[in-house]
Amino acid sequence: MTSPLLHVSAVETFYGNIQALKGVNLEVNRGEIVSLIGANGAGKSTLMMTICGSPQARAGAIVFEGHNITRMPMHEIARLRIAQSPEGRRIFPGMTVIENLQMGASLDNLKFFKQDVEKVFAMFPRLKERQAQRGGTLSGGEQQMLSIGRALMARPKLLLLDEPSLGLAPLVVKGIFEAIKKLNEEEGLTVFLVEQNAFGALKLSDRGYVMVNGRVTMSGSGKDLLANPEVRAAYLEGGHHL
Ligand code: ATP
Repeated sequence: MTSPLLHVSAVETFYGNIQALKGVNLEVNRGEIVSLIGANGAGKSTLMMTICGSPQARAGAIVFEGHNITRMPMHEIARLRIAQSPEGRRIFPGMTVIENLQMGASLDNLKFFKQDVEKVFAMFPRLKERQAQRGGTLSGGEQQMLSIGRALMARPKLLLLDEPSLGLAPLVVKGIFEAIKKLNEEEGLTVFLVEQNAFGALKLSDRGYVMVNGRVTMSGSGKDLLANPEVRAAYLEGGHHL
């Protein structure tokens, strides 16, 4: 049996005395798109950040490609080629598109820089048109493309995306989700996606997990979760984050 690319077991994370993660178990296999859905404040972003090493888990274990990364500093985790596009995009507003992409490329990958930039531009032609423009002047959707593009410049084995659809118009969201699917299908990129847009995320994903109040309460194939009455009632019906 092959082991998962990412294995999260019994992870607990605190902010001071506040326990945000209460024993989280999940796994992501090579080549999968896996989504984590849940309401505001459920702990989704905290899990993403805990995988990246800040904050660190107080209990439990996170294993990536056989490396125990639970207590590793962030930069060492990044060197294992886990790349993150964080919530709120966090691009460098004063830097141009190209400079932002440069920030994403690690020193080890500089020889691939031109080729990798071309790949990002092929995926997001808008970024190519705006390559000399400062990040802060881009639209929300373009900033999201830049944030994903910057993460891809690290040549990740695992791409973590925190709320890529946040604040974007439905058509822009569709474009972003299609780009993620294409990366997965054509490059075999493994993607772990945190989303409040449960419908879009589950439709895109091989598998999904539902998080409630710091715990995973449900898991299954994207298709099964989409059809699940509890999931539908809590996250899909009544216009929740569609
Ligand atoms: P959202 O979609 O709003 O980002 P989320 O599911 O990602 O929600 P988290 O942001 O991980 O949830 O928050 C989980 C819990 O931890 C919440 O109760 C939140 O208030 C708390 N929390 C998050 N960040 C901090 C912080 N820096 N200090 C204290 N508590 C925090």
